[in-house]
Amino acid sequence: MTGRHPRTALLLAAAVPLAAATVAVALKAGHWRLYADRHHIELKPQPRRSCPDCRGAGGWWVDGANPEMEACRCWTDRRELRIRLLPIPDWPGEPPF
Ligand SMILES: [Zn+2]
Repeated sequence: MTGRHPRTALLLAAAVPLAAATVAVALKAGHWRLYADRHHIELKPQPRRSCPDCRGAGGWWVDGANPEMEACRCWTDRRELRIRLLPIPDWPGEPPF
């Protein structure tokens, strides 16, 4: 790279940290799960291992004609925190609906 294209060098220098910023982070601590990327930060409740009903599985199967998973109240009753950061860009060339 020479000094003839300082604008290109500047754009490349700006693109490298931008690419690094797209990395998402997911952490699990205790009975919460933290997820963060450049679009949002999310703090979600997780099932408790000490729960006497689900024992950390988060739910159980209900028998019947149509078996389905029932979520345990040890995590569904707790609030979820979500902070929006940058808007998610629309898909290029597609109508919104
Ligand atoms: Zn539970």
